[in-house]
Amino acid sequence: DVSASSAQSFSDLMLPDELVSALGKAGFLRPSPVQEAALPTARLGADLIVQAKSGTGKTVVFATVCIERVRRDLTVPQALIIAPTREIALQSTDVIDKIKEHLPGPPLEVGCFIGGLDVEDDKKLLRRTLHIAVGTPGRLCTLLENGSLPHKTFKTLVLDEADRLMGESFAEDLWWINDVLPKDKQVMAFSATFSDKSLAEVGEYMASPERILLDRDDVSLLGVRQFYVLIGEPRQDEGHGHGQDLDAKIAALLSLCQRVAFRQAVVFCNAAFDADKLTKRLNAAGYPSAFISGAKTQVERIDILEAVRSFKIRVIVSTDLVARGIDLEMVNLVANLDLPRDAQTYVHRVGRTGRYGTRGLAVTYVTGAELTRLRGFLATAAGGQVEPLPDDIPKELY
Ligand code: ADP
Ligand code: MG
Repeated sequence: DVSASSAQSFSDLMLPDELVSALGKAGFLRPSPVQEAALPTARLGADLIVQAKSGTGKTVVFATVCIERVRRDLTVPQALIIAPTREIALQSTDVIDKIKEHLPGPPLEVGCFIGGLDVEDDKKLLRRTLHIAVGTPGRLCTLLENGSLPHKTFKTLVLDEADRLMGESFAEDLWWINDVLPKDKQVMAFSATFSDKSLAEVGEYMASPERILLDRDDVSLLGVRQFYVLIGEPRQDEGHGHGQDLDAKIAALLSLCQRVAFRQAVVFCNAAFDADKLTKRLNAAGYPSAFISGAKTQVERIDILEAVRSFKIRVIVSTDLVARGIDLEMVNLVANLDLPRDAQTYVHRVGRTGRYGTRGLAVTYVTGAELTRLRGFLATAAGGQVEPLPDDIPKELY
């Protein structure tokens, strides 16, 4: 249970009254277990590695620490939050915006700096006061390098989805940023999935980090019931075998949509071509859908997420772009049209439902051989049981 922390309110964690009140007005009344476990240590200024399940409120931990740490009477940037995707950066910025709105005293200024948007707009924003900078590695490097974002005054560095940031595509940018920032800063890293390797890598950014690793052995996805649907082996020998395979999966998914009274759904495909085709079929069948992909412009991606939040779109089709970190609270169905490439990806995809203790369904389409791999994902990373999808899906499950 995500709300099974012993602290009744944020004031039990000795947070200042005005911050407790701002958190409450932003909808955060009672700390979650990860907030209760990590906030006291984080507020002491310790370097920190925090692992806790998807959807359990890690953002509020670092948002709160950054907000409290920043001196609003100064005009310089003091906290830097790095995220692997533009959407996660925007989302963390929103959380800080929501809390800061209710703070008395001088305004807290937060800016989000991500690729795909005009760098001139960033520069304009950076000519004014800024206390907290949030962004993706590439754009932050650009702005630090050309001097638009001053680097000497940072006291706090947050790495969200840190295991991902340790990956090949970001490693170089991350080291560079870490090097230009002051040496004596506080560094905090967050993720739902740290392998032993990524734990060690992230530790390299810190002096002697505290580790708060919740449910390291039990990472089963809270509140998510996991199912599979067996589909035939692909018939490559028939020339356009893949097409038939895809058609069968799409038909199965449409039938699932009819049988489950879902609020909103995310469907993952491994290939953009399939995602595109599926989106068209879903729209034709009366489920307003959009394919969100890395090939879309940032403005398009923001528009789609906006349409999702305002319920104009019910099904988001994606490759792995939104697999991590994105918090869409109305999503109670996740479907994997294809088996994800590894266990971590499976956990992050399925973690798009069951956010903050709500319930959700995860359905994965597999061949017989893939079912063995899927069972392996649960055994090594996701936890829980994967069962065949019943014809009647009881409403209590999601
Ligand atoms: P994580 O990063 O751990 O996957 P998020 O930080 O995205 O999770 O939070 C997941 C959801 O939980 C969000 O919708 C957030 O608003 C909600 N949430 C977080 N903390 C609290 C709280 N203390 N009380 C109520 N809701 C919360
Ligand atoms: Mg998160």
